[in-house]
Amino acid sequence: MANFFSDNKDLQFHLQHPAMRKIVELKERGFAEKDRYDYAPQNFEDAMDSYRKVLDIAGEVCGEVIAPNAEGVDHEGPRVVNDHVEYASGTVRNLEAIVAAGLSGMTLPRKYDGLNFPLVCFVMANEMVARADAGFENIWGLQDCAETLNEFASEEIKAKYLPWVSAGATCAMDLTEPDAGSDLGAVMLKATWSEEKQTWLLNGVKRFITNGDGEVSLVLARTEEGTTDARGLSMLVYDKRDGGVKVRRIENKLGI
Ligand SMILES: Cc1cc2nc3c(=O)[nH]c(=O)nc-3n(C[C@H](O)[C@H](O)[C@H](O)COP(=O)(O)OP(=O)(O)OC[C@H]3O[C@@H](n4cnc5c(N)ncnc54)[C@H](O)[C@@H]3O)c2cc1C
Repeated sequence: MANFFSDNKDLQFHLQHPAMRKIVELKERGFAEKDRYDYAPQNFEDAMDSYRKVLDIAGEVCGEVIAPNAEGVDHEGPRVVNDHVEYASGTVRNLEAIVAAGLSGMTLPRKYDGLNFPLVCFVMANEMVARADAGFENIWGLQDCAETLNEFASEEIKAKYLPWVSAGATCAMDLTEPDAGSDLGAVMLKATWSEEKQTWLLNGVKRFITNGDGEVSLVLARTEEGTTDARGLSMLVYDKRDGGVKVRRIENKLGI
């Protein structure tokens, strides 16, 4: 049985880095949660043991599910149905396997149902998923958009979205527009505050967005009317359950 973790010594090597002791200490904040969650590590050895176990599971999912599905996903591809993206059937099976294995929300705090793993473990898992199917890595890897929410969003937004990402919601980062690529300060998608709905309403076009029909999207939009540069922009959360996005077409991006 192929296992992309246990079969690859080059990946396992990262866990032997002397900096791991410091990384674990910082991520676990002196093991402050050891009595609050039964799956929180008690000490360094305990943390390393759980990283290895989870990465071994990730390696198995890569070897047994994602890699064998990759060719079929390339042949079938995603499609647009009723203005939304339907993944290839292999992509759906990949996502189900990833969620069943508990590999969503890897770096998020336990408070939001995450594993609270350091980025180094997430990057290792990403590497394995990419080796199995580089296109699928672009979907699964976008869970790190939740890191941005965890760092900068209000508690209300975090409580609403982070547990959903930990439960397998996919993410997207919507920056690029037809006239704003390298020059993101030129973004024109307009955000207007609605007193009536007590929310921001977004109006405009994005393009080239990887997994652009994902469940949780971070959208760069112009919130300050009359501005023309980056100072009038803000990042907003778009929730697919609220509707409003129409996918016109799927780009033929090589490998995605
Ligand atoms: C595979 C793929 C995945 C992507 N995924 C996402 C995503 O998930 N979310 C998202 O928001 N965007 C995504 N993008 C879009 C990507 O961020 C943009 O393509 C990128 O920012 C470049 O913008 P552009 O395509 O409009 O090109 P332009 O900005 O028009 O650039 C065209 C050319 O002009 C050059 N150029 C531009 N400005 C200057 C300058 N001032 N001086 C000299 N040369 C310059 C560039 O180097 C380039 O060669 C993706 C793109 C690709 C190809």
